[in-house]
Amino acid sequence: ARDGSVAVVTGGNKGIGLEVCRQLASSGITVVLTARDEKRGSEAVEKLQKAGLSEIIFYQLDVTDAPNIGRLAHFMKARFGKLDILVNNAAVIGVEYVHDPVDVSVMSDKEFRGMDEHQMLEWLFKNIREPYGAAKQCLETNYYGIKHVIEAMLPLLVASSDGRIVNVSSINGQLRVLNEELRQELDDVDNLTEERLDELLGKFLKDFEAGEAEAREWPTVLSAYKVSKTTMNSYSRILAKRHRELRVNCVHPGYVKTDMSLYSGVLTPAEGASNVTKVALLPAGGPTGTFFAMGEEEPF
Ligand code: NDP
Repeated sequence: ARDGSVAVVTGGNKGIGLEVCRQLASSGITVVLTARDEKRGSEAVEKLQKAGLSEIIFYQLDVTDAPNIGRLAHFMKARFGKLDILVNNAAVIGVEYVHDPVDVSVMSDKEFRGMDEHQMLEWLFKNIREPYGAAKQCLETNYYGIKHVIEAMLPLLVASSDGRIVNVSSINGQLRVLNEELRQELDDVDNLTEERLDELLGKFLKDFEAGEAEAREWPTVLSAYKVSKTTMNSYSRILAKRHRELRVNCVHPGYVKTDMSLYSGVLTPAEGASNVTKVALLPAGGPTGTFFAMGEEEPF
């Protein structure tokens, strides 16, 4: 709720990201809505502007494209000289659906209506494939994409008097999805390094490609998604320790009706987004290195 503040949101063209942009702009913050697709992104900005939110700017950003990230950082420095809030929302789920996902909206009416979360998960388990390419893309987007965006924005966040990073995470990224050994290692933030996270991610991909992910006790079902979100959380904790002047937090938005969940969620995108926005707008000096699930602090 602070005039003069500026925020960057990734994956702002739809779903939770779009609603985070709307909510931040509604509280007087200048929002740079980014999207990888120029057309989808600028249409989203137009939509928000038509709703009376004038302080929204579009910038094209694919978080897996390093030069593109560099251009955004350059633009932000020239235009604002700082960044107050970075919401890393963009992500992919790392699977392909056996059913043709083109008809998601039809499915959401005819097939998904009435399914609870448990039934939906069962349906999902039967109808997804996890090809190697999708798993790799998932780590590149959800882990490395976020990391590279943060690295590029760090000087601008530090230049803010109250810089915040909100990483949109998931309960699928909580440590309980990992085996005991990994859980302990990732929870030991004092001894964890980025290099070690790189090593683990490389090992996961290798095992995954060799068809040995399950034998090596990596998470099964949404494996890459779970691995990407757990490591992203760990990276956030390392960063929070290193940059005490920033607030770096992770948020599970809730189970939300979006393209990602095939509209099977229980919350609207606006409700899910409000769990994210709330953390972005916590009072100065608030928690850092914390995991929030639907508004409440929870263990990683
Ligand atoms: P959507 O699939 O609706 O939106 C994902 C957004 O990320 C889209 O804007 C998409 O762009 C963008 N994106 C994907 N890859 C890239 C990339 N390489 N560069 C830039 N943008 C990219 O999903 P949600 O709104 O549901 O998800 C938002 C966040 O919430 C994610 O981090 C997700 O993991 C998390 N989450 C969601 C839950 C849910 O129930 N929906 C539950 C827990 C967490 P494009 O339109 O071009 O594909």
